[in-house]
Amino acid sequence: MRVGIAKERREGERRVAATPETVRQLTGLGLEVVVEQGAGEASGISDVSYRDAGAELAPSGGLDLGSLDAFAHVRPLTRQWAAGLKPGTITVGLASPASELETVAALAEAGVTAFALELVPRISRAQSMDALTSQALVSGYRCVLEAAMRLPRFFPLYMTAAGTIPPAKVLVLGAGVAGLQAIGTAKRLGARVSANDVRAASADEVRSLGGTFIDLDLDAAADAAGGYAKELGEDRAALQRRLLAPHIADADVLITTAAIPGRPAPRLVTTDMVAAMRPGSVVVDLAAESGGNVEGSVAGADVSVPTASGDGAITIVGMKDAASTMPSDASRLYAKNVANLIELMTVDGAVVPDFDDEVVAGACLTAGGEVRHAPTAEALA
Ligand code: NAD
Repeated sequence: MRVGIAKERREGERRVAATPETVRQLTGLGLEVVVEQGAGEASGISDVSYRDAGAELAPSGGLDLGSLDAFAHVRPLTRQWAAGLKPGTITVGLASPASELETVAALAEAGVTAFALELVPRISRAQSMDALTSQALVSGYRCVLEAAMRLPRFFPLYMTAAGTIPPAKVLVLGAGVAGLQAIGTAKRLGARVSANDVRAASADEVRSLGGTFIDLDLDAAADAAGGYAKELGEDRAALQRRLLAPHIADADVLITTAAIPGRPAPRLVTTDMVAAMRPGSVVVDLAAESGGNVEGSVAGADVSVPTASGDGAITIVGMKDAASTMPSDASRLYAKNVANLIELMTVDGAVVPDFDDEVVAGACLTAGGEVRHAPTAEALA
């Protein structure tokens, strides 16, 4: 069976869905792999290295979608791409089903068997296929570096002959995969780190990384099925903002990573809360692309907010394509997630999804002309 890898078309996307390592993995399973020339360029992977790993190269812009049995991608497919695939083609990649309803409908209509990496169940057995986790690791690391580059002071404590510089105070809101990575990175840079999350289970994880957990005692019972957070009601959300305000005012760096699957990002921080920070402070909103945790954040831009006292400004950094800013390692991890899911479904050199397997069934978005993911099917109805 023939597996295709294309150069990602979305502006700003620098990752690729296969690396030479995963080409070897897939060809070792008896699959043929065809890679569009230039597909790995932005991730620092040459065409020659794909070819040396056993891939066939297709000319740039000349990958024949109709010749493929499987297609791996990073960003959600476009409707045109979906229409170019033959019925029964298996696709594996990020699909953003909540926001790409039209494409999901096109995939179903084209008879494509689409697997969305966002839907891979978060169980131990599926960890090696969990692209949300691998990419959140990259984003969480990167957003701390973005803050450190803009902060007009050091992260670590320095005791020098010329005086003592206290460590920067970093506050992280949302201590999931990205938030924990941000905490670990800020700690490694020497900052004093504190964090808050609505999931009670996150407190021990924050402490294990050397952070201080800020317990707001919201009594929110926010742990939902699958380990994800539930959305807070407006009264609880307002209480959370009020209780967080003094902690935010005291931070040099605020990093927000809060998310609710399938919902816009919760609004945790208002402009007034930002304006109460010290001049020169930096806010990084990792959720800027999905609605924003911070009022006024703009994905892909820096926004300056004057301090309430008028003595300076705070910078809000709206993260965009965060994982794509480190394409080499992000692709390495992502491609491995993709190849591991394909390997799970491959028997005797053919990709044959076994829908009795909970990972395969859970990750399936469309098959046999139908939308298999119930919430997406409901949204389309
Ligand atoms: P996510 O990206 O959906 O959300 C990020 C964080 O935001 C979460 O920790 C969430 O609790 C938090 N959040 C939501 N609303 C908030 C609010 N109002 N205030 C503060 N924080 C808020 O989550 P994620 O990073 O994908 O991880 C969610 C959970 O899944 C974690 O417990 C993680 O350990 C677990 N997980 C399990 C597996 C596995 O078992 N294979 C893999 C990855 C993650």
